[in-house]
Amino acid sequence: MSLVVVGSIAFDAVKTPFGERERMLGGSAVHFALAASFFSDVRIVGPVGDDFGDAEYGVLHECGVNTDDVERAAGDTFFWAGRYEDDLNTRVTEDTRLGVFEDFQPKLSEASRAAEMVFLGNIQPDLQRDVRGQCDDAALVGLDSMNLWIDTARDSLVAAVSEVDLVMLDEAEIRMLTEEQNLLRAARTLMELGPQTVVAKQGDHGAALYREDEFFALPAYPLETVIDPTGAGDSFAGGFLGSLAASGGEADGPALRRATAYGSVLGSFCVEEFGTERIQRLTREEIDERYAELQGMTALDAAPA
Ligand code: AMP
Repeated sequence: MSLVVVGSIAFDAVKTPFGERERMLGGSAVHFALAASFFSDVRIVGPVGDDFGDAEYGVLHECGVNTDDVERAAGDTFFWAGRYEDDLNTRVTEDTRLGVFEDFQPKLSEASRAAEMVFLGNIQPDLQRDVRGQCDDAALVGLDSMNLWIDTARDSLVAAVSEVDLVMLDEAEIRMLTEEQNLLRAARTLMELGPQTVVAKQGDHGAALYREDEFFALPAYPLETVIDPTGAGDSFAGGFLGSLAASGGEADGPALRRATAYGSVLGSFCVEEFGTERIQRLTREEIDERYAELQGMTALDAAPA
């Protein structure tokens, strides 16, 4: 099944208690696409500047990501700088430079418009809606966002949410967007807007999946050392939607549970090193090995008679 992602394609500067990188490949669409590429064909949509070179394209191509809809414009590629506190859960944004995103007007190719699955990665919600409008035939459209857009473009974001099938947000963002502290109620509030599925990402606690008549939760894969959490959420989303695409887009209970587990596995690999470093040399065998471990850790026997 064909999968398209729109989102940021970025250079990131990141500081964590374990070190720093001054400029590395990042962006919501990049992390998503690399993770999804282990499961299905994926096309990436977004703008880059003249500073985006062969090395960066090479990382995407090496993983088989189709870059025909990457638009090159005069100016700088989107740049984000952030640092993490000692507990790695608190992230402080130090700089955001929109660069070529400022004038970005998505024009999807025929091939991308015909995609059966679409992920609207974290970008300005009006851009997400624009892309959504160009992909009328998609059987499943998912969306991610962040606190910045809840603060600055709430109405657009609510409109974008009402136009998709699946919403994937951090637990705190779901509470913030719905102004509802109880997560189950908050998920129901989002579902009332339109989406049939809500996934709450819970960082190192895992993820929870809500549907009208279904609930599923999975802990995160336990890691002794986390180096850089940047991109974990997007890698989770890439593993999740990639896995759904690989099972023919079927979004029933078992497929969604499997997708949650693959999302968790990809997120866990992402944080083991800076940026895309770990995912770039990841293999499908390593993914399936970790999936099996997660399965063993979470399987319950029936209660004794
Ligand atoms: P995540 O850690 O999965 O939430 O996403 C991290 C990625 O989001 C980084 O690689 C950044 O380049 C990207 N990012 C940060 N802020 C923004 C923003 N305002 N719009 C789009 N992408 C962003």
